[in-house]
Amino acid sequence: MKAIVFPGDRTAVLKEFPDPVPGPGEVVLRMRASGMCGSDLHFYRGSVGFAAGGGTIQGHEPCGEVHAVGPGVTEAMAKVGQRVMVHHYWGCQTCRRCRSGWPQMCETAPAKTMSATAHGGHAPYALVPAHTLLPLPDELSFKAGAAVGCGTGTAWGGIKRLGEIADTTVVVFGQGPVGLSATMFAAAMGARVIAVDIDASRLRRARDFGAHEVLDPAEVDLAEAVGDLTRGRGADVVLETSGRAGQDALDVLGTFGRACFLGLPGEVRFSAEQHYKKQWTLMTSWTMSTIQQARCADFIVAHHLPVDDLYTHSWTLDQAAEAYTWFDEQSDGKGVFEFAE
Ligand SMILES: [Zn+2]
Ligand SMILES: [Zn+2]
Repeated sequence: MKAIVFPGDRTAVLKEFPDPVPGPGEVVLRMRASGMCGSDLHFYRGSVGFAAGGGTIQGHEPCGEVHAVGPGVTEAMAKVGQRVMVHHYWGCQTCRRCRSGWPQMCETAPAKTMSATAHGGHAPYALVPAHTLLPLPDELSFKAGAAVGCGTGTAWGGIKRLGEIADTTVVVFGQGPVGLSATMFAAAMGARVIAVDIDASRLRRARDFGAHEVLDPAEVDLAEAVGDLTRGRGADVVLETSGRAGQDALDVLGTFGRACFLGLPGEVRFSAEQHYKKQWTLMTSWTMSTIQQARCADFIVAHHLPVDDLYTHSWTLDQAAEAYTWFDEQSDGKGVFEFAE
């Protein structure tokens, strides 16, 4: 089969790989959708610390159907033909982190991560351990399941870190695929959402996804504008997804505010002396647990959320070069590789 690899020089090329065969405890998926995630670009560009070496199949938002199961995989774990999402990390399965659904933080050894240290989903077939599979609800498309597998799931994980947000004013910084998902979830959870981005088309989309107010920091003073919208109190909750607005995020945060930083590099500095009377809770977040991924999918179904609309571009594998040239410009939208039935 031919699959997408990144040599690390801003190119995406198709490379020949043997068709995968499932070993004990493993499953081969017939890929139906494989999302493009912002973090792909670290590998695409060959950023320091991210080189995948050109030998690893890319794509860590895989979604598809079970094609073949290896020895020891029971029907309860995976059935041929079953529609599935994948939690794209795998660990030892026995340490506390793995058992609590967080294999990305495995205490025994670094977790295998699809597209980085294990082959990913930008291929006709993908090989994964059966324990990484999560059922894809019938109501969700394969591309929705792909989004939940990283970008949209990451937004969910960040919001879950923040706790109860109903009846609060939430400022979401960055309206890329993760931020837009966060805007959608926060609005559905009953928060009043103020979406922030420097791109007018992203702000228009934010309104479509439920933002009550939108702000462009190139046009307004953010602290003043959020102050005006909150009777001077500032935001109750802030989610920073752009990786570039750490300081702005703190500037709009009110007393007893909670802020979660999940965009990278996301430099944040503050003086406790200047701010201790604000009673802040500041936190970071890294993707989502297995259980959170499943619950995220359930929430999308229950609230009829327009996850498919996050995608602006659909590609086939042989359009890899064009797809990643487009994505590298990071102008707008989200792409997905789709596969014929
Ligand atoms: Zn573990
Ligand atoms: Zn990702």
